[in-house]
Amino acid sequence: MAEHDDSLLWQVEWTPTQTAVDTDVRRTPDGALAVTARSICAACRGNTVRRVRKVIPGPHKGAGREQEHIEIPTDLREITFICDCGHQHPDRPPGELGCGRYWRVELP
Ligand SMILES: [Zn+2]
Ligand SMILES: [Zn+2]
Repeated sequence: MAEHDDSLLWQVEWTPTQTAVDTDVRRTPDGALAVTARSICAACRGNTVRRVRKVIPGPHKGAGREQEHIEIPTDLREITFICDCGHQHPDRPPGELGCGRYWRVELP
């Protein structure tokens, strides 16, 4: 796998839409659906993880059933990522994360 680019300057910029590297979908005890997705920043090649959740109305069979197949709802299939690679990028303003790039991730 390619190395993280530490010398890349911080800049707010949209980069092309990507497909998630890893996705995890599970029900939380309070009846919500939690989607965790991982994606690689196209600019600095840092790793970013995002978690989105949504309360799904209707009966559910309780949390923690590994075998249950969960469909990801359409409105959770596209997640906006902002780079959170954990590295320090030159020119980064205080309070900002990663290298400043945004991108959309489509879940498989
Ligand atoms: Zn980075
Ligand atoms: Zn980045």
